[in-house]
Amino acid sequence: MKTCSVCKVEKDEIEFSRDASRKTGRSPRCKVCERARHAKWKADNPEKVREYKAKWQADNPEKVREYTAKWSVAHPEKVRECQTRWKANNPEKVRAYEIKRRADNPEAKRIRQARWREGLSDRCVAEYLGLPNPPPELIELKREQLKMLRASRQLRQAIKEKQNE
Ligand SMILES: [Zn+2]
Repeated sequence: MKTCSVCKVEKDEIEFSRDASRKTGRSPRCKVCERARHAKWKADNPEKVREYKAKWQADNPEKVREYTAKWSVAHPEKVRECQTRWKANNPEKVRAYEIKRRADNPEAKRIRQARWREGLSDRCVAEYLGLPNPPPELIELKREQLKMLRASRQLRQAIKEKQNE
């Protein structure tokens, strides 16, 4: 039996954590008091806890990946929420990622171009006009206007990307 230095309760040896640095081989505090002390230290030292956590994560990338993967599978809705928030906070990164993804995936580019052409179908252009049964000449004109708008937008985008390089 051993008396805890904090709560002064006499407890079984097994109720005290192992501590090789002590002559007795056990901590002078019982496990319950040790836990309370640790919790208090954490509450009093949020900066240190963050630092320690960051260091541990940097030292254990494998474990972090494993843990994150498990957590993601168990909490799909939280993952989505988190992604949405991250995207809202990092528009630049999202844009850079989109550009890279497109460059890496020519097939997706082909599909996108096909969609873009479909996007200028008569029906779609008529919707842009906001008129019921517009005459074909008007649709044609509007289509040309939309094409020009899109082309100028793409050109502006390309120039901006060049400048950012
Ligand atoms: Zn105790």
